[in-house]
Amino acid sequence: GAISPFLEPGTRTKADSLAIVHLSRDNLLPVILQESKGEVDGYAEGSVINTRFGSFPHTTLINQPWGAQVRASIVDTGSRGRKRKIQEQETAPDDSEGAGSTTTPGQATPKGLETASSGFVHILPPTPEVWTTSLPHRTQVVYTPDYSYILHRIRARPGMRIIESGSGSGSFTHASVRAVYNGYPKSDDDARGKVYSFEFNEDRYQKMAEEVEAHGLKDLVKVSQRDVYNGGFLVDGKSPEAECVFLDLPAPWKALPHLSRSKPAGVEQDTPWISPLRSDRTVHLCTFSPCIEQVTKTVEVMRQLGWMEIEMVEVCHKRINVMRERVGLNMPTDRGSNLSPYDVGEAVQRLKEVESKSKEFHERNQGGENGDADVDMDDAPEAQKSNGTPSKSVNESKAPVASASAKPFMMGRLIHRTEPEIKTHTSYLVFAVLPQEWTEEQEAAAFAKWPCGQ
Ligand code: SAM
Repeated sequence: GAISPFLEPGTRTKADSLAIVHLSRDNLLPVILQESKGEVDGYAEGSVINTRFGSFPHTTLINQPWGAQVRASIVDTGSRGRKRKIQEQETAPDDSEGAGSTTTPGQATPKGLETASSGFVHILPPTPEVWTTSLPHRTQVVYTPDYSYILHRIRARPGMRIIESGSGSGSFTHASVRAVYNGYPKSDDDARGKVYSFEFNEDRYQKMAEEVEAHGLKDLVKVSQRDVYNGGFLVDGKSPEAECVFLDLPAPWKALPHLSRSKPAGVEQDTPWISPLRSDRTVHLCTFSPCIEQVTKTVEVMRQLGWMEIEMVEVCHKRINVMRERVGLNMPTDRGSNLSPYDVGEAVQRLKEVESKSKEFHERNQGGENGDADVDMDDAPEAQKSNGTPSKSVNESKAPVASASAKPFMMGRLIHRTEPEIKTHTSYLVFAVLPQEWTEEQEAAAFAKWPCGQ
């Protein structure tokens, strides 16, 4: 099958493949790009993305290098009399009518009329991180700070097999398939890293199955509809042979008995017991629960079932904003008027610099019209230097000019602001390890090889 753009995006956008339209930092739009479906009335018929930055026919987004900036197009607004209107636009190319938010998806893209309009977007390859921020939410999801830590702790690596339940909105699924991806289709099926995802809700299962197909992941992610508390984790009666497990379920302790090496008491099964876990490797597991009561029950059952190295962790993610702040005596109000000696020293240094530049500027201009209080003293002398002649007009010299000798404090002092509080508690992560199976024969053989074994 097609290789997923999440795993091998290539260098350019493709038709029938997922791309992320970046409108702004917090506004990302996932889109499957569609080629024009032919012509209607002499115009290419195709899908159009309408945003407040303008209209973007899919045809203008296909075969673009990833990261490209794409300008909005002028798109026809009417279904009838389209030709006449476009002809009018052709004779008046500056007329911006038709661009903007007046069109609806699916309207015609007039051929040759994809001229620049007001706004632009960037087109980005899909990654689990951007997918997590742009995906359609069907449930609570696991976010990047949590899943990056979880995948590291459960030792998810290329070629491994992960059991995940429930699938929910597929946020964790996308991150985990990237972690285990080992170069499909070069490797054979048995050696392929895979995600076995189990979801009990019919609707969410259907949506997940559709997404997995649309994202080119169906050979790497197997979604099953199942109540794992009762049905366990086998797929078509076979073991996924998983080495990593992630449970994001309301009652993980009810699923744990199915994740044993041998049939635990209380699990009904007529056929011989098949463990979903790989027997010759240590299995790493994580459960994700918002309440401490859920953690207590989970840990209790983990202990009964032989899980070891049980540990609970909470990821407290804090955003730190790093920026430059202009230093002056008029400090921003949120910092109050309590200037530290450091601030005052810096402000005085800056004032001295400004004063000397101002003096130099006044001398060169011999007192002309430059008494204007609006002049930016930092910039004026530089502006003069750049055009070689002293400026008579203050306004002419106001444009800021980058200077290689600009001192860092002129660009502002480097500061950071930390979010005052952690806004949300996501969940408690419980990690545990199930050691590899160790038979009496293996024990005896290992003991015999050991130099001090006799
Ligand atoms: N980890 C997912 C993500 O990152 O998008 C979100 C999972 S969501 C919080 C929990 C999911 O578990 C729900 O979709 C729910 O339907 C499913 N679920 C609850 N009980 C289940 C069960 N017994 N078997 C399988 N899935 C179950």
